Amino acid sequence: MKSSAILQKLMYFALDMDGTIYLGNKLLPGAKEFLDYLAAAGRKYVFLTNNSSKNKQSYVNKLQALGLAAKVDQILTSGEATALYIKASNPNARIFLLGTADLEQEFLSHGFTLTASVPDFVVLGFDQTLTYAKLTEACHLIREGVPLIATHPDINCPTDERSGYIPDVGAILELIYASTGKKAKIIGKPYPEIIDVLMAKLNCRREETAMVGDRLYTDIKLARNAGICGILVLSGETKKMDLAHSEVQPDYIFESVRELTAALRDK
Ligand SMILES: [Mg+2]
Repeated sequence: MKSSAILQKLMYFALDMDGTIYLGNKLLPGAKEFLDYLAAAGRKYVFLTNNSSKNKQSYVNKLQALGLAAKVDQILTSGEATALYIKASNPNARIFLLGTADLEQEFLSHGFTLTASVPDFVVLGFDQTLTYAKLTEACHLIREGVPLIATHPDINCPTDERSGYIPDVGAILELIYASTGKKAKIIGKPYPEIIDVLMAKLNCRREETAMVGDRLYTDIKLARNAGICGILVLSGETKKMDLAHSEVQPDYIFESVRELTAALRDK
């Protein structure tokens, strides 16, 4: 682990939610105190999610229901990150969007035109309203040379229903690749673009920014890819023994955000 001097320089925290702040519908111990501490210390935090099917308000509602003070501008979804990524180079883009009504709303709020007619990009989100007609149109456009951008790479999304998983963006990308031979530019975790967007949004520097999460292959891989500090918490998916045979290594490891809070306080 690195020295605590690096930890003390951190001013901006990108936070994973499930496994880091809560587990399912239960707040993890010390999570509220962690966020209260960051706010009191003038350290900023933003919740990061790869789920591009829901809007930011639905995450605010979930966090508030758990007793946490969260605002809409403290949530960054891979959907918003994708919109901001495109906006930086092409603010008037025409987009053929495969996404939910919430994702359509997100893109419209940035001033994009959503159309199948001469689009600049095909954008694939976690589209639970996906139809064969939409997929067919997307594949025609992609084969005709329109670049494909995907909000995130997850193959499956966990669910409480039946087998426990439903197909996510990564699975649809495989289908599109099988049909067209074309690969997508991907924005969400573990791709560094989501951190580039976050840093532009918060106007912060890499050396003062950290990613806090419970997964090595998304959260910590993201930190490595983006060149920021990676803080692993063992309150979710990763167990201590997983670290021994992982190529991806965090800068700091804590049992939970409770122990991270204590380390940040400790000057
Ligand atoms: Mg997680």
